[in-house]
Amino acid sequence: MCGIVGVVAERNSVPILMEGLRRLEYRGYDSAGIAVLERGRVARLRAVGKVKMLQDALDAAPISGSVGIAHTRWATHGVPTTNNAHPHVSRDGVAIVHNGIIENHEILRAELKGLGYAFTSETDTEVIAHRIHHHLAGAPDLLAAVRKTVAELQGAYALAVVSESDPNCVVVARQGCPVVIGLGIDENFVASDVAALLPVTRRFMFLEEGDVAEIRRNSIKVLDSAGGHVARAVRESDL
Ligand code: GLU
Repeated sequence: MCGIVGVVAERNSVPILMEGLRRLEYRGYDSAGIAVLERGRVARLRAVGKVKMLQDALDAAPISGSVGIAHTRWATHGVPTTNNAHPHVSRDGVAIVHNGIIENHEILRAELKGLGYAFTSETDTEVIAHRIHHHLAGAPDLLAAVRKTVAELQGAYALAVVSESDPNCVVVARQGCPVVIGLGIDENFVASDVAALLPVTRRFMFLEEGDVAEIRRNSIKVLDSAGGHVARAVRESDL
């Protein structure tokens, strides 16, 4: 398993996301990628190989935005190529990063193809992006669309999602893979482990299995697997 990072801030999220990825490199990975909301639109860059390759791509064609997600991939479905690297997007409006394995991806993929969604990767992950896009049409917000989507997934996942429909938040979900929320002042973060976020915060909220959370600059809303609002423990890191 590799790594995810997410940022909801006022300042540019890209340096924080990239430092987070560098701090997750020890987990092992074969490719890396980043997506931010740049003037309300998803802007994405991906690269095979080291985080350094992604940094070089960013230096050549910079993107910026105060809300974003990033990923180091350890391929399980589909070889390490740029097209298979995360984030995966659906119709340009939704971008997601995923750690883990979706066991029922084939059936979900067939259904989505029937609904007219075009696939650009061989990953199990891409179904999640299209599923969230599909559910956004009938859901009040991104949080609700992610909840509907994870209810359909079998397998293990840590997810972070951004959407042009709500450009001021990151939604995360966990089932079988770790996710921690980093609490800042007027900014909040998410990552696979606390080490990724130590340059920006020492306060962490630990999600439990089945939780889905909406992270904004000034609020964090956590729903458990039954859909009820819950408070999760906040702890100060002594690392
Ligand atoms: N199963 C996904 C893929 O192959 C995610 C792998 C991971 O955890 O990095 O893209």
